[in-house]
Order: sequence, then C-alpha cells, then structure tokens
Amino acid sequence: MKQEQMERLNKLQEQMWKIKPEPLPNKRYVKKWWKQVFNNAPDGKFKWDDVEAGDWTPWCCGDKDCPIQWHQTAQAINYGRDDEGEYIEIMTVDQDGNWEFDNEFREDYLDNPDLAYYISQEATSYNHFKALADYWIDCACTHKDPLKSSFDSPEEHDKNPNKDWVDFCLDGAEQDIRYLKMSGRQNIWQKTIRTLRWWYRKYFDYPVIWRIKRWMH
Ligand SMILES: [Zn+2]
Repeated sequence: MKQEQMERLNKLQEQMWKIKPEPLPNKRYVKKWWKQVFNNAPDGKFKWDDVEAGDWTPWCCGDKDCPIQWHQTAQAINYGRDDEGEYIEIMTVDQDGNWEFDNEFREDYLDNPDLAYYISQEATSYNHFKALADYWIDCACTHKDPLKSSFDSPEEHDKNPNKDWVDFCLDGAEQDIRYLKMSGRQNIWQKTIRTLRWWYRKYFDYPVIWRIKRWMH
C-alpha cells in the first residue's frame, strides 16, 4: 500500500470511529416508533411476509478454522397481528439460501432490549453501512475480496493502472461512511419534519378548513 493510501485509510477509519449509532431509544420513543410502523396496517388480523430479503450485510466470523472469514446475510422483515397482538419478525438468509429465524418483537413486550437495539442500529441501517465500510477497509489491507463483491478480482484491478485495487476499496469504504453518516442523521430530520408538520396543523391547517367550512354555510 502506498503512503498516501495508508494516510487515506487512517483518515477513513478515524471518521468511522467518530460516527456513533443513534442512542438507545427510551420507552416513549419505542412506543411512538411502533405506532408509526403499524400506522397504515390493516385492521384486525393480518400477516405480511416479506417476499424477498434486503441487501447483503457482510460480517466477519473470526473463526480460526474458517478459510474465508467473511460471510454475508440479508434480512427479511415480516409484520402482522395475531391473537396476541402486533408483531415484527426478523428472518435472515445466508448466501446458500438457508433461512433462519432471528428475532421477534411484540407489542405486549416493547421493553425488550433487543427492540431498542434494533430501532437504533438496524432500522437506521447503521449496522449495515458500518459492516460494508469495515469490509472494504479489510479488502484494501488484505488485497482480497472473499465475498466477490467487486466485478473484477483484485489482480484484474491492478492490471489497469487507473483501477488500483486499494483505491477502489477505499472509494467503496468512503461511500459507505457517507451513507453511515446519513443513517445517523436521518432520525433528526424525521423528527424535525414531524415537529414542523405538527405546528403547521395546529396553527394553520385546521383554522383554514374551519374558515372554509364557515364560508360555505
Ligand atoms: Zn467463517
């Protein structure tokens, strides 16, 4: 790795350490979040099963005997309401197509610490982009692409002077860190928009409707 690439890598890692996930939400926020998720759900019993999993998220097993080290899984999220109430069910699938039950959250147990973690780190895509950035930094250091996430192999990249493998990986990490920053900020924007909308409704929307109604009579 060239000196300037080393410096760029250090800077990217420094940036990444600074980005923190959303703090774990309090009870009130969890309740609100849950209500919003089920806001447009049908009345009564229903069962919505995700037909397809989302994007692949890489993870490192760290297993001494594992020659690949990196694996990837994707999530599918099922929503529903049964006799016991509303639920969210998380399923994961690996690259071989093996589906596994991951977790289930229920409206009668919103204090579930796993749910708070899910809201702050998984629902915001924080974990996803962090894992991707970690992966590309590892690829830059090891000169490998165990998940074959690039169309070309590292060797193929190096044959072309404009497509240096390390630069390619650092570009990938930089892009994911950009998304990582957005995943943290997203909630702040959502909160702001919600507050603005509330004030608008309270002081503008309703009086206008009321005035029009009066005018029509
Ligand atoms: Zn492994």
